[in-house]
This record gives sequence, structure tokens and C-alpha cells, in this order.
Amino acid sequence: MNYQEAIGRLKGERNAVVLAHYYARPEVQDVADFVGDSLALSEMAAATDADVIVFAGVHFMGETAKVLSPGKRVLLPDMDAGCSLAEGCRAADLAEFKKKYPGYVVVSYVNTTVGVKALTDVCCTSSNALRVIESIPREQGIIFAPDRNLGAWLKAQTGRENMVLWDGACHVHDRFDARIIEVLKEQYPEAKVVAHPECRSEVLAAADFVGSTSAILDFVGHDAAAEFIVVTEPGILHRMKLDNPDKKFIPAHPCNECEYMKMNTLEKIYDCLKNDTGAVEIPEAEIKAAKGSIERMLEIR
Ligand code: SF4
Repeated sequence: MNYQEAIGRLKGERNAVVLAHYYARPEVQDVADFVGDSLALSEMAAATDADVIVFAGVHFMGETAKVLSPGKRVLLPDMDAGCSLAEGCRAADLAEFKKKYPGYVVVSYVNTTVGVKALTDVCCTSSNALRVIESIPREQGIIFAPDRNLGAWLKAQTGRENMVLWDGACHVHDRFDARIIEVLKEQYPEAKVVAHPECRSEVLAAADFVGSTSAILDFVGHDAAAEFIVVTEPGILHRMKLDNPDKKFIPAHPCNECEYMKMNTLEKIYDCLKNDTGAVEIPEAEIKAAKGSIERMLEIR
């Protein structure tokens, strides 16, 4: 079957859009109506007038889309596409952690469950995390969850001492180490190193540029360098190569893929659109409890 054509036809019949993350498989990015990072995808989910949103990302992204657009049908091609970061922070555990820091504001990365978002004052993505932290008065204590690497980077960037970090990490980004960068820099001495802030601090220290996936894409597009060592999930190379055919991109670790993102295939996108399977359902009370923290995130560009 020609899945590209069949998905295109079903999208028209159902007034559906396919949203995909930059870490999705190349062929999945190619059938998507919109490809972006978590922040842009959340904005798109809130703004679309489609009746059906197929989210070729992971579970928390589908949940976020449903919270923002409860009247729409949000379908996940594979309900098992989870996220190690989101799974490492359970709402019940965060509720206990909060008790130790009364009066602290909770800032959570969007890579969390709706239960955690309900305990959060404001969510952020790696695109707007710095701006979110800077929007909070300096004297205010902050709990940052769940990524300790992003949290440590934010602390270093803002000089905020009164910020406590949840001890979680993305298994993909946490796996990169400084030695890989050292070896690749010897091999490609002219290359610039670009890294995602979910990487460990010693990796970020070796980078020429640190930023979200969209910020990294913007940087490699505008920088004069011809070669880049890319320290994030290698799915992003698809977009980098499309946008910059004359530049060379070296994945720091080509096999270090997010197996959850890669669970989204053309066949599964076709199936969920055809059979209306993989619907994200969230009780109204949970939507109400989680919505405020996501809306505050979208207010801070
Ligand atoms: S790359 Fe990491 S943070 Fe992103 S979905 Fe996969 S496990 Fe989660």
C-alpha cells in the first residue's frame, strides 16, 4: 500500500492533521502537516481547526493536545509511545516532594503526565524554559521538575540558587558523554558542537551552542560553519539536511535514538486514522486541573 497517499486521503475525509516531532522517523515527518518541537506542537494543537489531531510524538504530547483542545479527537498512532522523563516523575511522588518546600513555585517541563501538570504552576519546554524562570521573581523559591540536566543548566544560566531539582533525566540525552564529543572534535576539528540542554553539564560545557531543537535548527541554518556535531536525538538530522543541503551534520551518537518516538510508523498512522483507534481520553476534572499550567507556558514565548 502507498501509505503516503492513503494517509493524505484519510486526512481529507476526516478533516485531520498529523503533527510530528523532529525526533519522529523521516517518512513520518514527511507526511505531517506540521513538524516542530514541543512548544510549537502545543501551540499548533491549540490553534488548529481540524476535527482530528494525529500526534506522531509520545503520550504526554497527545495528553497536552487533548487538554488544550478537549473537543477534538486526539489520536496516538501507538499508545505505548511513552517517555522515560515523564515516567520518572509520578504525581504522587511530586506531591510528597512539594511538601518539603512550602511556598515554592513549581515549574515543570512539558514532558510530564497530566497529573504532574495539575501540581505545576507553570510548564515550560526547552524553547521557553529560560524565559519562564526569568518571569518568576528572583527571591521566589522554585521546584524544577523533572529533568535534572535542564534544571542544572537553567540554574547556571540564571544564577538562581533557590531552585531545587527533581532527580530525573531523559535516557537518550543522559547517555551522551563528553568523551564522544572529544573524539568527534579530533575527527572534525572545524565542526561546531550543538547540544540539547537535556544533556549532562560536561557535555553542554563542550558545546558551542546549547538550545532546544528549534533553536538548534535555527543556529545551524544561520551559522557560517559548514560542519556540525549534533548532540541530541538523531531524528533531527532529517530536517537539518533538508534545510541545509550544503552543510554536513555528524550525529554524536547515531544509534542513540528515542525508541518511543520511533514507534510511530506510517502504517500505524494510517491505522489510527482509518479505524479511529488510539484516542486520548482524559477526565474533565483532570483537564481542568492541568490546563492552567499549560496555558501559562503558552503565554511566555
Ligand atoms: S527523547 Fe527523551 S524526553 Fe524526548 S520523548 Fe524520548 S525519552 Fe522522552
